Amino acid sequence: MSEKCPYCNKEMQKGIIHSDRYSLKWIPESKDKGAIIAPFIKGKKLTNINKSYLEVYYCIDCKKMIFEVI
Ligand SMILES: [Zn+2]
Repeated sequence: MSEKCPYCNKEMQKGIIHSDRYSLKWIPESKDKGAIIAPFIKGKKLTNINKSYLEVYYCIDCKKMIFEVI
């Protein structure tokens, strides 16, 4: 499967971001209090125990990355 960049419409490069010790998580900017207490703040988890990586499409030209939320 391939993705087209929504900005320039070119083919994006597929890659992987592996999560480290903690799940990758998106937190609304208004709730962000830094990395140390991030595990305790409610947000949208992007990785979990079953899937500890994220498939990400990258447009080198636009310097944008796109991924699907679980
Ligand atoms: Zn692009």
